[in-house]
Amino acid sequence: MPTAKAYAASSPTSALSHLSIPRRDPTDRDVEIDILYCGVCHSDLHQARNEWSAMPTVYPCVPGHEIVGRITQVGSAVKKHKVGDIVGVGCLVGSDQSCPQCAANLEQFCPHATFTYNSPDKHGTAPVTYGGYSSSIVVDEHFALAVPANLSLPGVAPLLCAGITTYSPMRRWGDLKGKKIGVVGLGGLGHMGVKFAHAFGAHTVVISTSPKKKDAALALGADEVIISSDANEMQRHAFSFDFILDTVSADHDINSYLNLLKIDGTLTLVGAPDKPLPVSAFGLLFGRKRLAGSLIGGIAETQEMLDFCGTHGITSDVEIIPIQKINEAYDRLLKSDVKYRFSIDMASLKAE
Ligand code: NAP
Ligand code: ZN
Repeated sequence: MPTAKAYAASSPTSALSHLSIPRRDPTDRDVEIDILYCGVCHSDLHQARNEWSAMPTVYPCVPGHEIVGRITQVGSAVKKHKVGDIVGVGCLVGSDQSCPQCAANLEQFCPHATFTYNSPDKHGTAPVTYGGYSSSIVVDEHFALAVPANLSLPGVAPLLCAGITTYSPMRRWGDLKGKKIGVVGLGGLGHMGVKFAHAFGAHTVVISTSPKKKDAALALGADEVIISSDANEMQRHAFSFDFILDTVSADHDINSYLNLLKIDGTLTLVGAPDKPLPVSAFGLLFGRKRLAGSLIGGIAETQEMLDFCGTHGITSDVEIIPIQKINEAYDRLLKSDVKYRFSIDMASLKAE
């Protein structure tokens, strides 16, 4: 069986290090991709360190679901792509393509969805799927997305998770033009949320714990910045937001953000801290407020998002790192010390 170079965690506490992994020979419907860049999502860190009780980690764990690369082989039945095409792969690499969710282009909710890493490998190549911290990957052509030619590839990679995760709930909410939209947390997801809200014509407000991010938030397209520890500022904006996207990766008091919503306003959670968040019933009742969640997006919507980014020249702001700096990058991610996404240059792995 073909092998690929990869970086893997071997336990919740071990540093990620080099590992050779099996990759299947492409089937008729598969494409083989030489990975050029892979974004570093906070989900990679949660999973590598086994922080999600609902999704226990199987080791070794090869994270990475913000993949961009070049097709090197295609199966005989492949129609969407050809050798040489630049494509992206996000959090999904398989679904049954026959259930009501798949029929509705919501593959992320397919009961048989295969996620890009730590998901049972239906091809039997390995116990679980291995992600994009790797030199190559083989996926069903349906899950490989066309990348607009005008975009810079290191900044495209994060669109495959951070991009679609923020684009999808905002699009679903409705026309954001002129609405007051909050983005809680200015990290990888949050900075994409700001770019999309701005592009959709919203009055965009960043709600951050980090006073030092204020100028950068305005430069990204925010109209205002609230520092959440400033009680007076939080009170001044109470009952004023139409929609808030909460991207926070750690335990936090969601009630203080619900208090910012106006009547019938919606707060959508996309951040995924493991610990349940206590919600005050009265905080929702008074104002008929809505608390919702959202998970990435389907394949068609992910393509729509990439095309939107191509039209509007939107990419992620990235710090490019070699794979050998991945453990340092995780430490910095935990300190909110990245503007705003690490993107791994996979040439560094191939040279190892
Ligand atoms: P990230 O880059 O680390 O950003 C998270 C941001 O949250 C930080 O930059 C920080 O922003 C804020 N924050 C951190 N700790 C906080 C605390 N204790 N209280 C308040 N704010 C805090 O992470 P990411 O890659 O954007 O991912 C964010 C979360 O989304 C993760 O839990 C990840 O697993 C999840 N996720 C979900 C989906 C989905 O489909 N729903 C997809 C991808 C990722 P400030 O410095 O501005 O406060
Ligand atoms: Zn992600």
